[in-house]
Amino acid sequence: MNGPVVALCPCRPGESLDVGPLRAAKTVAGEAGAPVAAILVEAADRQIEQARSEGDLVVWDVRHADLSPLDDAERRGPVFVEALKQSGLGDFRLAVLPAGHVGAALAAAIGKSFDAAVLGACAEIVLTAGGVEARRSTCGGRVEIVVAADGRCVVATRDASQRGPSRRVGEVRPLRLATPLPDRRPVERVGAAGRDRSVATARVVIAGGRGIGGDEGFDRLRDLAGCLDGAVGGSLPAVDAGWVPVSAQVGQSGQFVAPEVYVAVGVSGTPQHLAGVGAAARIVAINTDVDADIFRFADVGIVAAWRDVVPALVRRLRSSPEAFSPDERDP
Ligand SMILES: Cc1cc2nc3c(=O)[nH]c(=O)nc-3n(C[C@H](O)[C@H](O)[C@H](O)COP(=O)(O)OP(=O)(O)OC[C@H]3O[C@@H](n4cnc5c(N)ncnc54)[C@H](O)[C@@H]3O)c2cc1C
Repeated sequence: MNGPVVALCPCRPGESLDVGPLRAAKTVAGEAGAPVAAILVEAADRQIEQARSEGDLVVWDVRHADLSPLDDAERRGPVFVEALKQSGLGDFRLAVLPAGHVGAALAAAIGKSFDAAVLGACAEIVLTAGGVEARRSTCGGRVEIVVAADGRCVVATRDASQRGPSRRVGEVRPLRLATPLPDRRPVERVGAAGRDRSVATARVVIAGGRGIGGDEGFDRLRDLAGCLDGAVGGSLPAVDAGWVPVSAQVGQSGQFVAPEVYVAVGVSGTPQHLAGVGAAARIVAINTDVDADIFRFADVGIVAAWRDVVPALVRRLRSSPEAFSPDERDP
């Protein structure tokens, strides 16, 4: 098989491009001497430029006459499928998507349309003589397995640590589509008070660990998140204990979060946990153990029990909400 490796990048307005799939595709293709390309659907100019500056690949700037930036994966899947066909990349060896629920839904659509094996969220991806081999974690991150399949494959990845930008900028090719898409599903609007904010997109994340000790502590973290317009996340032990839902687990086997501020409370700071926290986040750590690893990564460290700090912070923020106004901060 000599087909290309293709990064598939769904883009959202106002967000930076997730370069994980792009870099993974470049690395995998580079090692095997295969051609590499990226397909960006409904990307902003800034996102196209980001992909182009990663270099050494062809960037397809795909737009569809009937696609809105907020359409779900059910309508985006057919656009990626058509883009692969019309760009001449339909003979791909490997398609790489971002990890997460959008990537998973798109992977299913592409796997079905191209009769490709869908390997899930992987790392250490390599092309073999007849297919693809990769590592992935399973059982909530407790077990690492090697997955392999022959023929064309689809993987998801969140690993942005691989080959970075190169000096040769990529070539951009526009592609305009107008193929029929499935009908939009009716959308129910839910007020902010009616739902939990997602850790994946929040600008402030309050994460609790084993040191929180129970539901009551997480209620206090939710109070704090409410004052800061933030989301509550947790470490793997906090999820295992049932204090936070698995959808809010931060780390290697959970969500990747990229907030401006990450408040880690009762979290020791293991590599598996911090692998899920974007490098640009400013970390505030609250921990009773002065030697906890989290303090090595924190911009602000408070050596104390959460009970002595979090409720006091909530009282202070509630009494003078102007102390923190997310919309009026400096950029
Ligand atoms: C393959 C694999 C994947 C994994 N994936 C993930 C993942 O995605 N996410 C993840 O989080 N972990 C993951 N883990 C688990 C990881 O190795 C650690 O076990 C976990 O991150 C530790 O969570 P923690 O910090 O909450 O608990 P601990 O390490 O037990 O730390 C608890 C901290 O709370 C502090 N503390 C205690 N009491 C208080 C108090 N009253 N107030 C303030 N601080 C207090 C303690 O000093 C301690 O530092 C993974 C492990 C493996 C092997």
